[in-house]
Amino acid sequence: MRHLKYFCILFVITIVFISGCGNSAKTSKQHEGKIQITTTIGMIKDIVNEVGGEHVAVVGLMKSGVDPHLYKASQGDIQKLEKANIIFYNGLHLEGKMIDIFKKMAKKKTTIAVSKDISEDQLRGWDDGTEGHDPHIWFNVKHWITATKTVRDELIKYDPDHKEDYQTNADAYIKKLEELDQYAEDKIASIPEQTRVLVTAHDAFGYFGDRYGIEVMGLQGISTASEYGSKDVSELRDFLVANKIKAVFMESSVPKKAINAVVEGAKKKGHNVKIGGELFSDAMGEEGTPEGTYIGMVRHNVDTIVDALK
Ligand code: ZN
Repeated sequence: MRHLKYFCILFVITIVFISGCGNSAKTSKQHEGKIQITTTIGMIKDIVNEVGGEHVAVVGLMKSGVDPHLYKASQGDIQKLEKANIIFYNGLHLEGKMIDIFKKMAKKKTTIAVSKDISEDQLRGWDDGTEGHDPHIWFNVKHWITATKTVRDELIKYDPDHKEDYQTNADAYIKKLEELDQYAEDKIASIPEQTRVLVTAHDAFGYFGDRYGIEVMGLQGISTASEYGSKDVSELRDFLVANKIKAVFMESSVPKKAINAVVEGAKKKGHNVKIGGELFSDAMGEEGTPEGTYIGMVRHNVDTIVDALK
């Protein structure tokens, strides 16, 4: 009996000691070190760096040229997610092969889809009539401003001591995004209405088309996981020929085979379509280049589209 009592006291002391340690570890992480954040696509990493500034250390899982629809987390990725204090991902099934991992992580730590505050009536449906939504929200810069506010609010929630910094940083970034939004609107409007059609390999640009007033046609469905068929190729080819569309576009994270088939098909029908250049759709450019940032990527796309179609 005495042994049991002794054991109980020891047990309580141990618990107090362990939880005490846990608290101080968390405090030191918040105040001395940086908040460890892991993101999926580079565009989200960009937001977190801009808003978090000196208070965050951000790891992005998906590098330049990587297709998020097909991306499977490696063992190293799982470790980076395990180590993070906060995880930010896009959501809306963009990271289709990682959904279960996020569910698991959400039980342990702050795991946030940056699309969560965009109201449902602002989201595009899938073309195939299922209940899902088009995940490519970053191509409406206004939606990306909403995502920026979501990141800001989550950082403030996690680390209220630096609330003012997060607010100031977010305000500055949002101002740049508002300028970018205006830039895209003005530039796209300068393309003659008749040829204001954006043809790409997969439907990443639906939000872009809605926001900036350009018709968008893709060969694949919304996800690159869906295959295109010969019927899609011939339909798109006939459309190009009939409307004398001058250019189609490659995408950095999608194989070039599909769009080449359409260009070849149009040529056989006597209409020369040029490749208008490469657009960044689901991944940004190489780190250290202008296109390696979200703003640079959108500007590159707008300029490439306008130069080829105008
Ligand atoms: Zn996509």
